[in-house]
Amino acid sequence: MPDRPASVESGIRHFVRYTCAMRALGFYAGMLGIGSALHGQGAPATTLLLLGFTCLCWPVLAWRLSGAASDPLKAEFRNLTIDTGLAGFWIAMAQFDLLPSALLAAVMAMDRTVAGGWSLTRRSMGVMAAVALVTSAFNGFAFQPRTQFTTMLWCMPFLVLYLLAIGASTRMFADKVRAQKRVLVQGSRIDAQTGLATRPQWLALVAAELRRFQRYGAVSSLLMVDIDHFKRINDSAGHLVGDQVIHDVSRILREGLRSADTAGRYGGDEFGVLLPGTAREAAIEVAERLRRAVAAEVAIAGVPVTFSIGVAELAPGMEAIEDWTGAADEALYRAKDAGRDCVRS
Ligand code: GH3
Ligand code: MG
Repeated sequence: MPDRPASVESGIRHFVRYTCAMRALGFYAGMLGIGSALHGQGAPATTLLLLGFTCLCWPVLAWRLSGAASDPLKAEFRNLTIDTGLAGFWIAMAQFDLLPSALLAAVMAMDRTVAGGWSLTRRSMGVMAAVALVTSAFNGFAFQPRTQFTTMLWCMPFLVLYLLAIGASTRMFADKVRAQKRVLVQGSRIDAQTGLATRPQWLALVAAELRRFQRYGAVSSLLMVDIDHFKRINDSAGHLVGDQVIHDVSRILREGLRSADTAGRYGGDEFGVLLPGTAREAAIEVAERLRRAVAAEVAIAGVPVTFSIGVAELAPGMEAIEDWTGAADEALYRAKDAGRDCVRS
């Protein structure tokens, strides 16, 4: 078995299940039209029995072969090519009776294009044509352009059921893609480790607040928060404990803010807090409250975890978000220089 990630393995299992189900439907329903054409042409009972036998047994055998293979994907691609060989054989045996033959060839080509693109389609259709030619060479070539009405009727289950199955699977596929897109969008906005906004998402909110200030002069403040001596925590207590500290601090940030405020993971042990409609003094109060909450609630072996906070209010002259985050960062460095576990603005 080739070494593939679990998600790829699961995708392959899905693919194999899907192609096996479509193969069973195609062969079971497709044999009705071909069988009716053969019957109309006066084919012997042994030929009809052989048709029934191959169409009923091959999908089961193919499913078993894929299931037992060390590389199910490779086995399934081989099965897809064998499908077309069988189709070519029966199309020639049915003297190229127009409707069932065209239907079978079109469905084979469409399925192979969906499963493996043009290269698989070219290869498989080549196999189909070659097998049909060899069969005609042995069996005698004949072409039946006028499909009998009974055969047309026997082609209907194949036509209708196959189209319905394709519609249903397309819908399922579209639903899955939509769900995966939702997960991806969510992942790009919410940091999985902390449940806070990701840095790009948080910066987008900061940018929106800056535009509001530039247009309406709406006051706002930013906090830059950094855990003190976090490296030491990692080094002395281990990374798992470090992760737990980040988790706890994030929870306190999330729970200690109003719904209009947004905390984001700026990177590593640094967090940003956006406080719309909040002036400098009120922002300092929020920062102090958060600082006290962390010191009271988060501790390692009885020693409180602390963090330092820089506060910056939006001010005229701040043209870009870097001007604002930079001001909060400078305040944070002042807090670190002042001995940590404090707020500076
Ligand atoms: P200071 O008080 O000056 O901030 O000192 P510090 O030790 O906290 O220094 P700094 O902020 O530069 O160190 C951050 C460290 O956080 C470095 C990095 O290895 C660690 N870190 C970053 N992200 C994670 C994480 O998700 N989990 C853990 N356990 N550690 C992290
Ligand atoms: Mg730090």
